[in-house]
Amino acid sequence: MEPVTELARHIEGVTLIDQHVHGCWLAAGDRARFENALNEANTEPLAEFDSGFDSQLGFAVRAHCAPVLGLPGHAAAEDYWERRSRHSEIELARLFLSSAGVGDWLVDTGVGSDVAGVAELEALSGNRAHEIVRLEEVAEQAAQAPGDYAATFGEILHRRAASAVGTKSVLAYRGGFDGDLTEPSAAEVARAASRWRDRGGVRLRDRVLLRFGLHQGLRLGLPLQLHVGFGDRDCDLYKANPLLLLDFLRRSGDTPIVLLHCYPYEREAGYLAQAFNNVYLDGGLSINHLGARGPAFIARLLEMAPFRKILYSSDGFGPAELHFLGTRLWRNGIHRVLRGFVDAGDWSEGDALRVVDLIARGNAARVYRLAAR
Ligand SMILES: [Zn+2]
Repeated sequence: MEPVTELARHIEGVTLIDQHVHGCWLAAGDRARFENALNEANTEPLAEFDSGFDSQLGFAVRAHCAPVLGLPGHAAAEDYWERRSRHSEIELARLFLSSAGVGDWLVDTGVGSDVAGVAELEALSGNRAHEIVRLEEVAEQAAQAPGDYAATFGEILHRRAASAVGTKSVLAYRGGFDGDLTEPSAAEVARAASRWRDRGGVRLRDRVLLRFGLHQGLRLGLPLQLHVGFGDRDCDLYKANPLLLLDFLRRSGDTPIVLLHCYPYEREAGYLAQAFNNVYLDGGLSINHLGARGPAFIARLLEMAPFRKILYSSDGFGPAELHFLGTRLWRNGIHRVLRGFVDAGDWSEGDALRVVDLIARGNAARVYRLAAR
């Protein structure tokens, strides 16, 4: 057995800030719901011959989540499902959330009505939770409200942001990053809002109003998260390449902009984090889906991006396993990578410890101005 080093001990014990996460399930579901939740990109039910368990994420669930449920690591898929089914989703949430070693959850509330909200995540985990406000949801609320669209958007955004720590845009899902992302004029906004309201004012895809929301988010000054890269196939992946944001970033001022997920554009995102003082990145979602290949991805995040610009997130949504697994795979991966740097004599162990703290929580606490616990 390898001796337990200070670095290994520190990585095991460090309390994380999960800077992008959604709610976990609260109500029971069948095995098909669970297996489909292990596939992000496919929007259809998995094919008859397929299983969500036969993937990097599925193997990681069996390896690392099975022991939390009292099973041996790598338990068979059938055994895992049988054991999981003995618990309610509330019990599973309490178990996995409290095992994650997370102190603060930053919750994007813009998706899913059947999952835990901010207060429920706080209660189930015993940790702190904070809201991230989705700009497209604010737009949809403004479209449904009476009065001038732009003024109403501003009022709703400021009211919701008063108790939130950041905003998020899913522009990647609503047409992508390519094309004009400058701020539209007041007249353009009024015309576009009137057209959209006439069509029902649901699911914003209007480019003018998406650009308006983005610039309102920038002006607010709270960190603005952007979905980048890997997601479901509703998003044209090639239009979610963050290099398409260059012009927007050049004019984005001081507001922190956080590029989420990033795969397979983590190198592009790392370059942007080096190129702009206000650009940050994380590897949430990707680390869970890459499973045993997570360390290679984490190593790529540590190529160009300055160490004070890298954040941690799980992007857990649905099964509470994902909120836990994100931290497990990140701890395993960062240890593997930094141990290699230290053993090769390229990094000192003291520097490795410091970088662990920055990514685990220091950077997020600074960017989101979270009070120390
Ligand atoms: Zn997400």
